[in-house]
Amino acid sequence: MTSGGISVKQQTRQVTRFAALVLPLLLIPYSWLIHTNILDASHYAGNTVFFAIMAPWVILSLIQVIFPASNKYGIVFRLSAYHAFVVAYILFVSGFTTPFIAAWSLLLFATYLYFAESGLYLNLITLAAVAMIDIALHLGDDLLVLSDTISVLSIVLIGIVISVLARIQEADSAELLRSKAKESLQRDRINTLINNLADAVISTDEKGNVQVYNAAALNLLDTNDNLNGRHINKILQVHGKDGQPVNIFEDFKQTRGMTVRDDLLMEIEDETIRLEITSSPIRSSYSRLKKPASPDGYMLILRDVTKAKSLEEERDEFISVVSHELRTPITVAEGTISNVQLMVERGNLPQDTLERSLASAHEQVMFLSRMVNDLSTLSRAERGIADASEPINVRELCESLYNEYAPQATKKKLHFNLDTAGKLGTITTSRLYLHELLQNFITNAIKYTKEGSITLLVERDGPMIRFEVKDTGIGISKSDQGKIFNKFYRSEDYRTRETGGTGLGLYVAAKLAKKLKTTIEVKSRLNHGSSFSVALPADDK
Ligand code: ADP
Repeated sequence: MTSGGISVKQQTRQVTRFAALVLPLLLIPYSWLIHTNILDASHYAGNTVFFAIMAPWVILSLIQVIFPASNKYGIVFRLSAYHAFVVAYILFVSGFTTPFIAAWSLLLFATYLYFAESGLYLNLITLAAVAMIDIALHLGDDLLVLSDTISVLSIVLIGIVISVLARIQEADSAELLRSKAKESLQRDRINTLINNLADAVISTDEKGNVQVYNAAALNLLDTNDNLNGRHINKILQVHGKDGQPVNIFEDFKQTRGMTVRDDLLMEIEDETIRLEITSSPIRSSYSRLKKPASPDGYMLILRDVTKAKSLEEERDEFISVVSHELRTPITVAEGTISNVQLMVERGNLPQDTLERSLASAHEQVMFLSRMVNDLSTLSRAERGIADASEPINVRELCESLYNEYAPQATKKKLHFNLDTAGKLGTITTSRLYLHELLQNFITNAIKYTKEGSITLLVERDGPMIRFEVKDTGIGISKSDQGKIFNKFYRSEDYRTRETGGTGLGLYVAAKLAKKLKTTIEVKSRLNHGSSFSVALPADDK
């Protein structure tokens, strides 16, 4: 837009410039008709004047077409010169006749184009002045006065029409600009929102080609590639649990509304991840009017639910196994107690039967109590309740464990050795977790050893303190060594089955070791004994 003018397209200015050149060219043959008296020649002032007007006029128009005025002053000068030629043509060649209307309309339009309303008024004032001069030059010609007045009024009318039309157009283009700005703000808002979402978002067109995606999508797909324009089926090569490939795009097309699928698997970097894909068709209100059935594209939200799903499945399985494991002792205890009750009611209860029944019920209740204990330790560890670390005096901890379990070992006629040679110092870790871990090893060692000894050995191993519980018990077969950390696993060995156990102890111990950022090392030989050990960093490395 040139300063002071109205906002119109560049093409409008170009067309106006060409019209400004064509007009004087057309006026030349018209003037010839005047010159030869075919048309009214009352204003014609002779050939010399005619050429003196037309030659510079055509030259100016040519210059304006080839080299349009680049600044405001250039435009003012050229427009004024053009006005002067038209005025001279009216006064000395044609008078206020048909070509004048065309010429002046063009002038009016050009002035309005560059100088808006002020240009329009100036142009109309000039016109009135020219009409007055013309009337003065031809005094006494009443017809001329009338024709000049009508011509001036026609031009004024054209001026009003031009200005009204231009205002309407200007209002339209301002509205367009406003709505474009609004739209781009809206787009920026949506882009910011999508980019800041933690979930991966991909939007496709109706053919399934990617149009928009966010950083989380690149993260999930583990790529830096530009996804724009690529087909969604190429990007999401998913398959079901049965390994059969799933045409995800066909899937979207089948459904009308929002759908969620969480049974899809995808290979990313040698890893199989479980995806949850929420897809919704995108329908613009415009396309809904046209074809209600087909959407303009699809919006997908992708989530890696591998961890959540496996945790969920693990939890479900755990609950089912725990309830199964609890059922047997509860049934046995309940059955024994109700038998005793019945016998008491009948009054024929031998003392030894009563003792055996109560011992059996007690054993089952003890089993239940051990299991509840193990479960509560597990739940504590999983919820991170005793995660807090504290400096622990290693020797003190081992002595207290020894004092706690020596009576049990002595009761079974086992030697319990505490071997804590050298300087042990302190370690900083969770006291509860470490205590429960070692206690688990010690109680197992006592449980699975019939004769001989058990030893709690604590020693310095470079920057680490190693805790080892050794026994001379029944030992663990090679095949069992790989399974003893599974939940509820108990060896099939009859000697294991003779003892009461939940099969949860080592599963909990492994969880605790993980919490303490260490691993349990097992060494064992069937019928010779076992050793369980963990190492933790000493405070004074
Ligand atoms: P539980 O002792 O309650 O059966 P655990 O999880 O503590 O459960 O142990 C799992 C299995 O590992 C036991 O059933 C047993 O077969 C074997 N086991 C654990 N510690 C020892 C040990 N010191 N000696 C021999 N076998 C052991």
